[in-house]
Amino acid sequence: GVVANNGHVNGNGIHRLPFHDDVVVNLDRGDPKMYYPFWRNIDERCVVTIKASELMSYFADVSPGGVFYQMPEFATVVKKLHCVVGNAAVEGRYIIAGTGSSQLFTVALRALAATVRHQANFPLPVVCAEPFYSCYQEALEEDKSEIYRWRGDAKEFKEEGPYVEVVTSPNNPDGTIRKPVVNREGGMVIADLAYYWPQYTPITASLNYDVMLFTLSKCTGHAGSRVGWAIVKDREVAANMIKQMSLMTIGSCREGQLRATKMLDFVATTYQQSFATRGRPFRVSHPSEEGLFEFGQRVLAERWAKLRSAVKHCGVFKLLEFPVMYCNFMCEHIQPNPAYAWMECITGEDAAGLLEGLNIKTRNGPRFGASPRYTRVSMLESDETFDLFIERLLTL
Ligand code: PMP
Repeated sequence: GVVANNGHVNGNGIHRLPFHDDVVVNLDRGDPKMYYPFWRNIDERCVVTIKASELMSYFADVSPGGVFYQMPEFATVVKKLHCVVGNAAVEGRYIIAGTGSSQLFTVALRALAATVRHQANFPLPVVCAEPFYSCYQEALEEDKSEIYRWRGDAKEFKEEGPYVEVVTSPNNPDGTIRKPVVNREGGMVIADLAYYWPQYTPITASLNYDVMLFTLSKCTGHAGSRVGWAIVKDREVAANMIKQMSLMTIGSCREGQLRATKMLDFVATTYQQSFATRGRPFRVSHPSEEGLFEFGQRVLAERWAKLRSAVKHCGVFKLLEFPVMYCNFMCEHIQPNPAYAWMECITGEDAAGLLEGLNIKTRNGPRFGASPRYTRVSMLESDETFDLFIERLLTL
């Protein structure tokens, strides 16, 4: 049979070598292993079984107005969860699944470019305020598309005519809350809301952008399922995105959709029940009673406290401070706990280089359009990896 293991080695995904310092502590990627202990407790309560003859067709929904490759239950559950959390408007919107939100980013750009194809300003400029998520620039530059082009920092963008601004909020890499900065006629926004969930940031409003992207990877931590979704206001943009999905990959994997539907429904349903029985704010007497978002929030808050104390102790780096805000979901004031630490070296030295010297791999500032005195550190790794990171930081 097939044994599902979680990553390359074990649940925590780390090789224990006899010589501790030889282990590379890899905090370069935002691999969400942090969620493993939460789901390990749930295991048998959230199982997906697929028989040999199931999910065979290219088509999952042939109803008029349906997304041909997408199980109708998937969109229903996505909407249910957003209603429970209150982070995004879904009423009357189109839900479009993709192979991670990475695929949907390209799909959304192609669809938005198609809406302005008759206008002179081509290729369509794509901008994002620096520091920006490294993959936008890297994906677009690799693409060499004739219909859209990466134009870098939104704060430097001065041209007239149509453009796309990517608004990542909370931002990857620095965790700040963002709004569009260009705000000119003809502008279109893709809101990348991968981290707009209560474990990372207080939910202060139900967002309402034209195209919003979310991903299972950062919501529940099931990155390997490669499921993301777009919430789209405009019918034509949605239709074009479905066409792009059809051309690129003839839709997205139905096993992934099924798994995502199961996990998202579990989260939405447990909170619906918990609102009714426990009320809000959520008070638990033991971590085993926590829901996904309290679990994520507690673990991240503990990690941020450890990191801040280690950074203070070693005196080489600086971290951003995040204001406490009222969370409409938790119904109390909470502290943001970003998924990444954006570490600035106070002496202006190469921050990633300094950590590399401790055998800690991080993603350097220039990848995000920023100075090498910054580096991005994932806060989402396994407990074991995170603790090794802190242990080594304290030796600096
Ligand atoms: N957007 C942002 C801001 C991200 O940080 C990530 C993952 N690191 C993604 C999109 C892509 O996620 P996925 O393709 O796993 O859905």
